[in-house]
Amino acid sequence: MAQGMFGLTVGALAAKAARTAATPAPIAAAAPPTAVEPTPPTRTTHQPKPRRRAQWLVPLATILLLTIVSVRAGAIPQIQSSAIGTTPLSNSAAVSGLEPPASVPLGTGRTVLIDPGHSGGTAGHAAELNRQVPDGRGGTKACNTTGTQTDAGYPEHQFTWQVAQHVRQLLTTQGVRVALTRNDDTSLGPCVDERGQMPAKVNADLAVSIHADGGPPAGYGFHVIYPKPPRNAAQGTPSLELATALRDALHDSGLPTSTYIGENGLNGRADLAGLNLSARPIAMIECGNMRNAAEAITLSSDAGQARYAQAITTGILNWLNGHPTNH
Ligand code: ZN
Repeated sequence: MAQGMFGLTVGALAAKAARTAATPAPIAAAAPPTAVEPTPPTRTTHQPKPRRRAQWLVPLATILLLTIVSVRAGAIPQIQSSAIGTTPLSNSAAVSGLEPPASVPLGTGRTVLIDPGHSGGTAGHAAELNRQVPDGRGGTKACNTTGTQTDAGYPEHQFTWQVAQHVRQLLTTQGVRVALTRNDDTSLGPCVDERGQMPAKVNADLAVSIHADGGPPAGYGFHVIYPKPPRNAAQGTPSLELATALRDALHDSGLPTSTYIGENGLNGRADLAGLNLSARPIAMIECGNMRNAAEAITLSSDAGQARYAQAITTGILNWLNGHPTNH
């Protein structure tokens, strides 16, 4: 959908961070455009190789000058240290000194809580699952449910667990500290009220709950749920913006919005304890309909799960990028 703040891909965001992190050190600044820009400008026939050679002459001349100055001053180690960090100033090091500077990961200093919906080890725990817990709006509801499954028997809890692992890995590479609401896909995880309180407990910037739906077989597509009406400030605009960022990223990746529930891939709900009890921005994603034969194939496959995870990660990073201050 909309490009701009919420339309950035992970790659574009990483490139933006790399550009922002480019140091103004003389040698780094004199590096050829390819060292900073992921896509060099299209070279026209008017400026072929001579221009490229000239670009390399500047840093080489700079290094030569620094070397001469260093030798005369008799202080080569000090010059090396201040000019290009730990890279030795030698003929071979001159090349490595022209490599792009290390970029600061986009999500550095941020914390995200991922909730893989349901639990793996529900067998034999009916009483615990049915235990009534606070729903966050003055009532109670069951601790949790087993979740749905595809007609072929692929369970929702396994889908949410797999996607959560992908998302955790992708976010971690961007410097984000990631917490999960459950530790494995074999034991009985926490109830929904406990999950709802976790975002504040781990001091998360945001929380995303991952699910897949069990809708009418003819229906398909994803929808993102946000708390409505909000019970606190975090559940208001920030949560709606998070749901929108996730919706945009999923839609931009080519996934269809739900044909059977919500509006344009969004749905406000008041009956979900995991959302009602959150003191931090939160959204829940129903990635698709496990009861739809075609979508069940996507939901059950490694490639499909990786695709959902990539889009979810992009949505999370877009929201973080647009909300630089915590809470
Ligand atoms: Zn679910």
